[in-house]
Amino acid sequence: MEIGILGGGIAGLSVALALRKQGYNPRVYERRAVPATMGAGVTLWPNASFVLKELGLQQDIEAIGGRPLTMRRQDAAGNALGGLDIGLLDRTMGYPTYTVLRRHLQEVLLDHAARAGIPVEFGRRAVAIELDAHGRAVAHFENGASIRPDLLIGADGRMESVARKFVAGDNTPIYQGFVNWVGVAQAPHALVDDISIQDFWGVGERFGCVAIRPGLVYWAAAQARPLNEATPTADMHKEVENLFAEWPETVSRIIRATPENAIRLIAVHDLEPLHTWSRANVLLVGDAAHAPLPTSGQGACQALEDAWHLARCLDGASEGLEEIFQAFATIRTPKTARLAEQGRVFARGLFATDSETCRIRNERAKASDPVRDVQVLAAGWRQGLPMPGGDDGTSVNGGDFGSLYRIE
Ligand SMILES: Cc1cc2nc3c(=O)[nH]c(=O)nc-3n(C[C@H](O)[C@H](O)[C@H](O)COP(=O)(O)OP(=O)(O)OC[C@H]3O[C@@H](n4cnc5c(N)ncnc54)[C@H](O)[C@@H]3O)c2cc1C
Repeated sequence: MEIGILGGGIAGLSVALALRKQGYNPRVYERRAVPATMGAGVTLWPNASFVLKELGLQQDIEAIGGRPLTMRRQDAAGNALGGLDIGLLDRTMGYPTYTVLRRHLQEVLLDHAARAGIPVEFGRRAVAIELDAHGRAVAHFENGASIRPDLLIGADGRMESVARKFVAGDNTPIYQGFVNWVGVAQAPHALVDDISIQDFWGVGERFGCVAIRPGLVYWAAAQARPLNEATPTADMHKEVENLFAEWPETVSRIIRATPENAIRLIAVHDLEPLHTWSRANVLLVGDAAHAPLPTSGQGACQALEDAWHLARCLDGASEGLEEIFQAFATIRTPKTARLAEQGRVFARGLFATDSETCRIRNERAKASDPVRDVQVLAAGWRQGLPMPGGDDGTSVNGGDFGSLYRIE
């Protein structure tokens, strides 16, 4: 079977690797001329590590990644608001959590794709998909070329997915009311005391920083803003520095250790869950199918899960594509829709602009039971995967992490 994959991001490359392991010969088409080098980092939680191990990537991720054992929350004045025992989460789920720079993750995926003989064609921007006279999808590229594989996988992200437009008729992402500035701080000396995730909560503002090594920390600063103000300014370094100047010293230290021209502004969008992820011989995966907000912490992890499940659905399948797509969607839609909703709930609490609401949110976070928080997360994140501790994911509050911060 000829398989074409639009998009060489985390979803496209991990799907390609998973399908190659099953004996297929996928080909990846990526719009960028060269591999992406921008962007900050991602936290790969234990459910992602399960997939990374299955794909044979875990050792390389271990070599480039950090192993955080704790997540600490504080308010903007530095008062502790509890946290998450990541070591306990890892032990409960049976797999480690890794923190990695995006470009390093991308390098590992591309390296494995090359070793597996998967062709990745750069500079191939898909502009449209249409059906031919036989009801088969044809993807057209900017340069006038087109492909007509037996199976076309749309892994072309959340912002303007050509595949989503073909499948759902609409690919408009939804702005969720806040911006992220992302950056990577680097220094020859330690910027943080330990390899941990630190999350600072203000009123309508947030600063999260994630250590990979003591001298290598990626971060995301965030602020509630209307869309018409969600545009980059000439000096974003100064802007972010000023915005967080009165916050705990760690925040300023990390901003100062970030190269001036390396801060990127993202107007944060997500996508409405879809009822169907396929049309004809086209299937959506990753953000193109189910982009959650970064506050879910699960976008890349779910892209990796898609790869693992899709390979299993295709493995030795005697059914036609329609049945395979149906089986894939039945497994994947409930979990990804729930995580997307939790990301929104969490964001509403985090970016509330009313100080009384934020005070209540902080009190709740402080009072939350750390062991139960781990159980809730583990139940939700291992759902559908053969990971230690069961598979139903419904025993503890339906794995509803968002409920910890529900403020409405
Ligand atoms: C600030 C921030 C922090 C995040 N932190 C985390 C985290 O800690 N943990 C986590 O799990 N997730 C996190 N995420 C989410 C995660 O980054 C995404 O869910 C993940 O990148 C999705 O992978 P993807 O391959 O589906 O999409 P993308 O990574 O967007 O890749 C899509 C690829 O398709 C290509 N493409 C697009 N259009 C076309 C076209 N027309 N033709 C050909 N190619 C095309 C793009 O160039 C790109 O390479 C975060 C997101 C943000 C914004």
